[in-house]
Amino acid sequence: MKKPISLLLVLCMLLALAACGGQERTAPDAPNPPAQTEGTADSSAPDPADAPEPDPADSPAPAPEEEPPVPAEYLILDPTVMPEGGQRDGVTYAAYDGVVEHLFFHPVIAYPELAFDGDAQANGLDDFMVTVNEFNKILDSLYEKDYILVDIGDVWSETTGEDGTPKMVRNTLYIPEGKTPMVFSYDDTNYYPYMLENGFAHKLVLGEDGKVWSWGLDPQGQEVTSRDLDAIPILDKFVEEHPDFSPFGAKACLSLTGYEGILGYRTQTDGAVEWTEALEANRQREREAVKPIIEELRRTGWTFGSHTWGHIRLGSGNMAKIQADTQKWFDEVGSLVGETDILFYPHGERPDGGDWKQTGEAFKYLQSQGFRVFCSVGVESFSFIKKDICAVICDRLHPDGKTLRWSRNRYLRFYDAKDIMDLDIRPDLGLGEDWNS
Ligand SMILES: [Zn+2]
Repeated sequence: MKKPISLLLVLCMLLALAACGGQERTAPDAPNPPAQTEGTADSSAPDPADAPEPDPADSPAPAPEEEPPVPAEYLILDPTVMPEGGQRDGVTYAAYDGVVEHLFFHPVIAYPELAFDGDAQANGLDDFMVTVNEFNKILDSLYEKDYILVDIGDVWSETTGEDGTPKMVRNTLYIPEGKTPMVFSYDDTNYYPYMLENGFAHKLVLGEDGKVWSWGLDPQGQEVTSRDLDAIPILDKFVEEHPDFSPFGAKACLSLTGYEGILGYRTQTDGAVEWTEALEANRQREREAVKPIIEELRRTGWTFGSHTWGHIRLGSGNMAKIQADTQKWFDEVGSLVGETDILFYPHGERPDGGDWKQTGEAFKYLQSQGFRVFCSVGVESFSFIKKDICAVICDRLHPDGKTLRWSRNRYLRFYDAKDIMDLDIRPDLGLGEDWNS
């Protein structure tokens, strides 16, 4: 009976190695992670030095084929609660009531040679996107400058005012001393068809390690599954390697439209074509396929907000359109990602015109549908709790080609565009005067 015991021991040790994160290494008999093309082909091979040295005769039997990967526990903590004794893991926490910075990104460009190829979209991509390389450097800089991530859902809460009506309040955050809290949001993480020809990941998938990877095609048309080519797995990996960048486990809030599906899955109905049983069956398959990815994202600190179903202009005053669109978002996106009280304005366009002090018809309607945090785009991480209605409005900053070129000074507290920008591969569209200082 010696053999089963040693086999068990070996398995336990391997499990323990896998459970502590083990630097991505897979146990010898675990399934291979997805194909890797990023020069990390070796990392899937077990390092003999890390494995116990079993007698060859005692080699563990192959794992049963259906065994699902065991995800490492992922802790999500509440930043509105001071840790007992004011400390956690030897780190001192302090109350924070200052500005919570808010940066938003679009999907990042995996292959700049496809994005900046001089076609009709190249300049728009230059305006609104950053490359993988730039995104990595931005993360490094934010980390060096002692920013930490918090979830947007923890910054404000709904409460009842003295007059008995609901209102929003800003929460005190308890954060590691010396750090500055920051919210991330990612807009349009839908992987629109136009992005697919322009050097972006095509969709999110689950790797055989149970983690979120991106899937796409390289410029030669070869399939690539990677954790280094999309802002979602890149941030997951960054937090694995720098857990103190996200002491509460927060990642980003994903701002989703619905008209071309979500996360690379075509979960939408399409009013433009005659809807058939076959189309509906395909849509239902896509809905089923995206569910485990949503679940894994939620489990690991990602949250979701609405970016309207059709990326519509909320300043249009067309109430019938706004109402139909909102219902469609609930039906096709909310039904998958769950309830949210966060709305990200498409084009940054405020409802009812630009006067944020007013509360117009469209704003009231959207608030009545459960939205409480209304995010626009601006020149600072401005926020304002509305007095006449239970809602908060906030602006986000936007690291992208536009601000890298033209707003270097404004973003210096986060990073220096001079250190970030891939000038060699972007089109030559000029640089702001503050690049000379
Ligand atoms: Zn958008």
